[in-house]
Amino acid sequence: MSRPSRWRGRAGAVVVALGVGGCSGGAGTGPIDLRGVRFVDLTHPFTPETLYWPTSPSGFRLEQLAFGPTPGGWFYSSYAFSAPEHGGTHLDAPIHFFEGGLTTDRIPLEQLIVPAVVIDITAESAIDRDARLTPEQVARHEADHGRIPAGAMVLLKTGWDARWGRRLEYFGDSVPGDASNLHFPGFGEDAARILVEERDVAGLGIDSPSIDHGPSKDFAVHRVLAARNGVALENLRGLDQVPAVGATVLALPMKIANGSGGPVRVVALVR
Ligand SMILES: [Zn+2]
Repeated sequence: MSRPSRWRGRAGAVVVALGVGGCSGGAGTGPIDLRGVRFVDLTHPFTPETLYWPTSPSGFRLEQLAFGPTPGGWFYSSYAFSAPEHGGTHLDAPIHFFEGGLTTDRIPLEQLIVPAVVIDITAESAIDRDARLTPEQVARHEADHGRIPAGAMVLLKTGWDARWGRRLEYFGDSVPGDASNLHFPGFGEDAARILVEERDVAGLGIDSPSIDHGPSKDFAVHRVLAARNGVALENLRGLDQVPAVGATVLALPMKIANGSGGPVRVVALVR
C-alpha cells in the first residue's frame, strides 16, 4: 500500500520538537532559535575503507581532479566521487524493497526531520551478536519513556559502531562476496510490525549494517517497513549521545532522482 501523503501536516510537530518558542513577534519574524541545542553527528565519514555489503561491486571512491596552484596563482582543488547507494551511513528508500515505494528524491522532508526515539539493546547485543529487538523490549521502552509517537524515527542502539572499520568484527564474516554467514544485531520482525504498522513510525535506524539482523535471509524487517513507505537508516554512529526520547533527528540523503537509497548525513538535535 502506497501512502505518499501520510506525512502531510507533520511539520508543526517538528517545530515543537525543536523547542521553538519566544517568537514574540509572531511566526516568520526570525530564524528558528537553536540556542542551547547540541548537534550530534550520527554519520561515519566516507573513505576508501568505508564498509559496504560483502556483495557490493565496489566501495566509496574519491578521485583527485585537481589539487595545487593554478597558472593564475591561486589554489584550487576538486574531486570526483563514486559509490554504491547502500554502504557507509546511508538511507534505504522504500523502493529498495517495495516496487510501489517512494524513491529517494520523493521522500517528504517532513518524514526526514522528526522526533527521535532511541531503544537500547547494547547489553543483549554484547551477549548475542545475532540479537533482535523483541516486542517485549518495545513494551519495556514504552513503560519507561511513554508511547512511541506516530511519525517518530526509532533508532536502535546496539553498540556496534564501536566495531566500525573492522569488517570481521562488524559483519561477523569477512569472506569477500559472501553474505551467507553474517552476524550482527537488528530489529525483529514482530517488533518491526508493532513500530511500523501500529505506531506508524517514519522509519527505523540502527548502528549496525542492517535493520534486519545478520542471519536474515528474507529481509522481513526491510519489507514490512518499505510496504508502509518507511525509511531505513543504517551504519549510524554515536547513538550513545542521544537520549531515549526528546531529541529531533535530521536524515537528509543525497537527492538521487529515482534512487533506492543513498549516502545520508544524519544529525540529532539534543536539548
Ligand atoms: Zn541500504
